[in-house]
This record gives sequence, C-alpha cells and structure tokens, in this order.
Amino acid sequence: MNIRQLFDQDTGTYSYLIWDEESGEAAIIDSVREQFERDSHLIIELGLTLKYTLESHVHADHVTASGLLRDEFDATVVLHKNSESCCADLLVDDGDQIQLGEQTVEMLHTPGHTNTDITFKVDGVLFTGDTLLIRGCGRTDFQSGSADTLYSSITERLFTLDDDTIVYPGHDYTGLTSSSIGEEKRLNPRLANTSREAFIAIMDGLVLDPPKRIKESVPGNLACGLKVAA
Ligand code: FE
Repeated sequence: MNIRQLFDQDTGTYSYLIWDEESGEAAIIDSVREQFERDSHLIIELGLTLKYTLESHVHADHVTASGLLRDEFDATVVLHKNSESCCADLLVDDGDQIQLGEQTVEMLHTPGHTNTDITFKVDGVLFTGDTLLIRGCGRTDFQSGSADTLYSSITERLFTLDDDTIVYPGHDYTGLTSSSIGEEKRLNPRLANTSREAFIAIMDGLVLDPPKRIKESVPGNLACGLKVAA
C-alpha cells in the first residue's frame, strides 16, 4: 500500500492518501475542506481512482472535504454508523472492510475520543485518528467521549497488535509524523506503566478550551462538509 501523509497547518491535521499500486485505487483518510484543491490536484496528478473518503471520526476541529471529493471523483463517503450521518454513503462498524485493488482496509471501532472513532488497519499500518496520538491521545470531554472507553480501545485493541505495527495519527502539533505500537506502549506518558484509574484521572484532570471551530465543524462534518455555517 502506498501512503502519502498530508498536513493542514492551520488545524494540525494529518490526512492520508493511500492507494494500491497495481490498480491505482485510492482512499483519503480525514480530508480537510481547505485542502480540497491541493488534494484533488495530487490525486489527478498521480493518476489515481479515488474510491473512498474515510473519516476516523466526526471531527470537532476541522471540516472535511468528503462531499467535495465525492462530487469531483464519484467517491463513496464512509463514516461510523454511530454518526447517524444522512450524508454518508456507507455507515460502517467494527470488522467491516473495504477493498482498494488487492489491498484490504479493515475498520476497528475504537471509541472513547468520540463514539464514532474508527482505526483503519491495512498492511501492518494503523491510522488511529484521535484515538492514539504520538505520546498522547484524543481528549474525552465532549462528543460522547469517555476516558474509560478510550482506555479499553487503546489497551485491549490497539496495544494487542504487533509492536512493530506503524501508527499514523490524526494530528500532531509538534511535527512528529509517525510512531509504532511498541513505541507508544513504552513511551506514551498517559498509557505506559499506568492503570485504568490513573489514565481516567489524567484525562479528567485536563482543563481544555473547546476547539475553536467546534460549532461549525460537527454539523459541517455530519453534512460531508457541504453545508458550513458562517
Ligand atoms: Fe478529534
């Protein structure tokens, strides 16, 4: 599987264009509306067929380009079923799969940051959205978030995978680009050598401002980024 990591500086969001070399069938994970032109150009330039736009969850900090990409490339918009999005073409759940040529992308439902989190697993690589970040994890204080649930998703699902599984996160605000399951088990300060109770205490103790764009982002993303309030 070919992987191209793409960055939106304004929101610290990583998008990923992934494709099967043989067939040229592609998917984009966590696209950003403001980067629609850049990403469309890249897809056309590389001669790819965009089959899917995948969302790791209903984001609160940026608006997706999924609806625009669907219009441009006739792609299928995928979201977790808990989103109840009327705009998505395909609502998925744990264990569902999609194909890009010979490559299989598997969906792991890893809730806790929100109730719509999906980790995409393909070819020894995880795209973890905001479930597991490099030396961190997504916040759990809104959008049906739960520190208890997030602890289970990370330690009982993701940390049971091979240590050399590569982790590509949904965000990084320091410029780090990837990690691995073994590295996060050893070095993630919220999760290494800790307990469920200690993790919940850490998460409950965070005092965070709401994301700046939450009011436009959540409804905007449920509408595939096509209806965005001013
Ligand atoms: Fe998020």
